[in-house]
Amino acid sequence: MIADPSNEPVLKLFKECDALLQGHFKLTSGKHSEWYFEKIRLIEKPAALERIVDLLAAKIRREVPDFDYVVSPAYGAIAIGFLAALKLDKKFAFSQRVDEKMSFRSGFSGLDGSRAVIVEDILTTGGSLHEVVESLRARGTEVAGIYVLVDRSAGTIPVEGKPVGSLLALKVEAFEPAACPFCAKGLPITKPGASDKKT
Ligand SMILES: [Zn+2]
Repeated sequence: MIADPSNEPVLKLFKECDALLQGHFKLTSGKHSEWYFEKIRLIEKPAALERIVDLLAAKIRREVPDFDYVVSPAYGAIAIGFLAALKLDKKFAFSQRVDEKMSFRSGFSGLDGSRAVIVEDILTTGGSLHEVVESLRARGTEVAGIYVLVDRSAGTIPVEGKPVGSLLALKVEAFEPAACPFCAKGLPITKPGASDKKT
C-alpha cells in the first residue's frame, strides 16, 4: 500500500474503527489484496466516524470559501455528508438512483441554482460521483468541490475535470491470484461482502 505519510492520523482512525482491514482478501475484481476497506464499519461506529468527518470538514472549510449545500449519494455516504453539513453549518441533500437515474427528491427545494460540495465515502472509479455532478448541473447547481474520505485512485481520477479532495489518498496493490504473495504463503483468503454500488 502506498499512502501519504501525512495522512498517518487518518489511517490510524480508519484502523481504530476496523474500516481498514489487513489480511488476505479477494476483491470483487477477482484480484487479491492485503488491504480492504469495510466502509459499513464507519456507519456502525458514529463516534469514530465523527472524528474522521471533523478532519474532512476542516479541510472543506479551508478550501471552499462559499457554498450552500453538502450533497452525498445514497446510502453509504449519507451519514458522512450529513455530519459534514452539520459541522459546516450548511444544508444537506442526498441523491438516489430512481430507475437507474441519479436524482434528488423534489423536497430538496433550495438545491436548484445553489452551490454544492459533494461528499462521498470512497473514490474507486468515479462512476457515482460523475452521475451526481451531472444530476446537479442539470438543476443549475454549481459544484463547488468534490471530497471523499478515501481516494483509492491515489489522486489519479479527476471527476468532470475537477480534482477530488480526500483525507486519505492511497493505492492498494492488487494481485492476480497466480502472482499473489499471500496465496504463495498459503494464507487463507477472505471474500468480504461485495458492494452492489458503483463507486
Ligand atoms: Zn491471494
